[in-house]
Amino acid sequence: MKQANIIQSFKELQYGELHLKQLLSEQFFAVIAIHSTHRGPALGGCRFRSYDSPELAIVDALRLAQGMSYKAAISDLPFGGGKAVIMHLPNMKDRKTIFETFGSFVHSLAGRYITAEDSGTGVADMDIVFEKTPYVTGHSRLTFATKDPSPLTALGVVTGMESCVRFHLKKESLDGLHIAIQGVGNVGFHLAHDCLDRGANVTVCDTNPAAIEHLLKTAKVQVCAPEEILSLVCDIFAPCALSNAINPTSLTNLKAKIVAGSANNQLSDPSMATLLKEKNILYAPDYVINAGGLIHVAAQYLSQNEAEAKEKVLKIHDSLSAIFEVAKAEHKTTLEIADRLAQERLSE
Ligand code: NAD
Repeated sequence: MKQANIIQSFKELQYGELHLKQLLSEQFFAVIAIHSTHRGPALGGCRFRSYDSPELAIVDALRLAQGMSYKAAISDLPFGGGKAVIMHLPNMKDRKTIFETFGSFVHSLAGRYITAEDSGTGVADMDIVFEKTPYVTGHSRLTFATKDPSPLTALGVVTGMESCVRFHLKKESLDGLHIAIQGVGNVGFHLAHDCLDRGANVTVCDTNPAAIEHLLKTAKVQVCAPEEILSLVCDIFAPCALSNAINPTSLTNLKAKIVAGSANNQLSDPSMATLLKEKNILYAPDYVINAGGLIHVAAQYLSQNEAEAKEKVLKIHDSLSAIFEVAKAEHKTTLEIADRLAQERLSE
């Protein structure tokens, strides 16, 4: 990828700031992208993974930081959006050195960016970062009994599903509905339980048999093969695995009436929202319905308690209902309305 693509992304996503840190002696290369600090300091996790090039790591951070801005704005949190990426390189120093270096990098931005765990990083890494900077959340000294954000993310998704069925199916609850969950890792596990607790019939799939076995120990669900989940006749399809679950191929097979799940970037591109609308499938925009995890880390950083965080997560229901009503009135997609609302809040 050429440098021009980075500049193009920068312009298209209406950036913002981009900070890079390279230490050749430690084989360290990290990116901090700050999309917006308009509503407060930029909050967003730190990914630690390999990339084919530094340019790809930068573009990933830019794209993800914009998503965090939108998610924080739509959830009415006093934060902007940021994201960090540490490139996993051969011959890197030990993990402690890596996260100490990253912590100093975060601190050098004087609170404009607040980091947290993300894919490839965990609580122990954030503890190391905390030795170098207070601008970190998700470390073990925080007060929440549940460090894992997944239960709150799942709660946000299930309350979002209830909003979807009220609007689209004119039903008051999930009782008796059939819900298909793609991926039963951290979020999908809790979501399956939340759906069963509300009387739904649940079918799940996962590419990892251990995840299915783990769920079957505590939950009465049906299991199908990963390649069958999309074509299952059901009320709600819940993507809770990887990005791009809804793409031109999968969309032709999709039999669900509603798409509502936790995965980030569920649509392979925004035109999928139009195609879903044309098929009369209601789409709960991903960054609205999966904001429970962000609300969890934000509440910890703000020293709020778990009850306050839960109350905020339950508001996802009404946020979605409002988006659905406006989308219907204006004959727009739910994604267009969510994006517009987020953009308005980012420029207020
Ligand atoms: P996870 O890695 O714990 O679980 C994902 C599961 O999906 C794994 O069990 C994996 O084996 C399975 N999987 C992968 N590919 C699959 C496929 N093709 N078909 C079926 N199953 C497949 O991740 P998670 O923390 O549960 O997060 C799930 C999604 O929700 C991710 O997109 C994540 O970014 C997003 N998300 C998570 C949180 C959170 O609080 N953890 C918050 C917001 C968004």
